Amino acid sequence: MLPFDDALRRILESAAVLPSERVTLEHSAGRVLAEDLVARSPLPGFDYSAMDGYALASSVLRGVGPWSLPVRGESRAGALAPKLAPNSVCRIFTGAPIPDGADTVVMQEDVARDGENARFTIAPGAGSHIRRRGEDLAEGAIALALGTRLNAFRIGLAAAVDRADVLVARRPKVAILCTGEELRAPGSAATPGTIPDSNGPTLAAMVWSAGGVTDIRPRTGDTLGATEEALRAALQDTDLLLTVGGVSVGEHDLVRAALSNVGAQLDFWKVQIRPGKPLAFGRFGETLILGLPGNPVSAQLTFALFGMPLLRAMQGDQKPLPPRGRARLHSALRQSPGRTGFYRAQLDGDLAITSSNQASGSTASLAHADALLIVPADSAGLAAGDSVEMIRLAEL
Ligand code: AMP
Ligand code: MG
Repeated sequence: MLPFDDALRRILESAAVLPSERVTLEHSAGRVLAEDLVARSPLPGFDYSAMDGYALASSVLRGVGPWSLPVRGESRAGALAPKLAPNSVCRIFTGAPIPDGADTVVMQEDVARDGENARFTIAPGAGSHIRRRGEDLAEGAIALALGTRLNAFRIGLAAAVDRADVLVARRPKVAILCTGEELRAPGSAATPGTIPDSNGPTLAAMVWSAGGVTDIRPRTGDTLGATEEALRAALQDTDLLLTVGGVSVGEHDLVRAALSNVGAQLDFWKVQIRPGKPLAFGRFGETLILGLPGNPVSAQLTFALFGMPLLRAMQGDQKPLPPRGRARLHSALRQSPGRTGFYRAQLDGDLAITSSNQASGSTASLAHADALLIVPADSAGLAAGDSVEMIRLAEL
């Protein structure tokens, strides 16, 4: 049985970065850059005013104020600035270029107008309220580096450095194959002993949020023949195959045998974690395979912990892992040592309240949790008030 960190490392190391494609900015959220985005000109591109007010040469406000100076011309956003006439000030608006000859802007709240003249009572420092060409990024600077996952703000920066499209890794294709005689489509007619397939839709949503596209395969029952046939079809034209269920040790757990019968190589099938111990990882040619346990919490958390980072690594993401933070335990948490424990908890500020139902089938507890608390494998638990490592579920 592999320790958590070793299993994660082996999975991430097996990821080959996918080829890239060009997408427009509006389709780039969550995608990973396959190029450095270089600022081809300085950002901002010209000196501009950060305020509505008056542009002037600070040298005209010498000696003791107040000073009254004629207002000549105006500089508006989107237009060329006039040249500053000697011994005058220029009306200026936010975003407008600084006129030649001006070195400061006085905001209009500090200025009284008297017909054609503007009256100043305090001398501004040189450079006030001026945003300088290149102060955000110099020409030639890397605005966003290869391997950066794009979010709304990074898309904003790409647009600010004048890009309409970006080169990103193509989306990994992920086949999802749920196994189990008992499964039926959510919302379909219930027959005795059947349950809705809740893992399929959850995993599909997680695949999308990690940048993948899904191929949801027809669910298969628990015979070796049917499982092999479903596996063969699901392995066609796929970057990652997810199987769900059938990887533990019961007589109807046929996925491992079926994978081996169709020619897949398994690297490992047990990890020292709780929940989710039976987790298989292997490959078939270029296609990677994750065999997830069927229990909903186990399936969903193992995919969150191993599968989402894998999909990100396949896109060349330099930060494929979710950030970890710390919280304070509201109550004591006990575990029998031997496996890294992942516990559902709700957060109240920095206080973590563990969910009362930690069963691996409790979809309700996972749906209402805010965080996963991580307790090291060698620990027998933590006391109330102890600091505990955690992953926020919203940051997966
Ligand atoms: P298994 O790993 O196949 O032994 O399944 C373990 C438990 O998870 C059983 O109670 C299954 O009914 C349940 N299960 C398996 N797959 C799913 C699924 N796709 N959706 C909901 N529950 C499932
Ligand atoms: Mg099963």
